[in-house]
Amino acid sequence: MLKTTVPEISNYRVFYRKVKYPRIEFTTGELVLILPYGTKPEEIYEKHSRWIEKKRAFIDECIKEAEGKELVARESKDFGQLIQNYMEEISKDLNVKANKIFFRKMKTKWASLSGRNNITANTLMKFLPENMIEYIIFHELAHLIERRHNKKFWKIIEFRYPNHNHYEKSLFGYWVKIQEGEIL
Ligand SMILES: [Zn+2]
Repeated sequence: MLKTTVPEISNYRVFYRKVKYPRIEFTTGELVLILPYGTKPEEIYEKHSRWIEKKRAFIDECIKEAEGKELVARESKDFGQLIQNYMEEISKDLNVKANKIFFRKMKTKWASLSGRNNITANTLMKFLPENMIEYIIFHELAHLIERRHNKKFWKIIEFRYPNHNHYEKSLFGYWVKIQEGEIL
C-alpha cells in the first residue's frame, strides 16, 4: 500500500553526509535523518515510519514524564562532591571499584565506563535531582560487574531499582529538557 500522506513530514531535520547507510537518530528528542548523498528523505521516512512513530511516541511519553519537574541549579563544587559520595557508597554496596572519574560535557550520554574502568560523568548531570544522579552512578558501577546490557546486568539493576524503566524514561525527559535549555 502506498500512503498518500506522510504524518508530520516537516517534523524532522535532514543532514547529508558521506555515509553508506541512512541513520535515524533521536538523540536530542528531535528526529534527525543522516543520509547518504542522493537519497530521498521522504522515502527513508516512509520505509521506517513504523519504527519512527513508535520511537516518537516513546519520546513524547518521556517528555511528559519529566514535565513539571524542575532542573536543579547546583554548584559545580557540590555536584562533584555529590558524585564522589555516591561513588563511594555504591562501590561499597556492589563491592566494586572504579579506577578514576572524569567530568566532561557530552552530547549523547549521561556517563560511560571505559575499558580501563574509568568513569566519565557528563557535567550536564548537575541539573538532575539526586535520585537520578544516584541511578546513573549505580548503572555505571554495575557495568563493572557486567559490561553489556544483558539479562545479568538488568538483574543487578532491578535488585535496587525494580522500576528502572521509570528512571530511564524520566532521564530521557530531563535530557530533552536540558537540551532545550542549552539551545536558548
Ligand atoms: Zn549502560
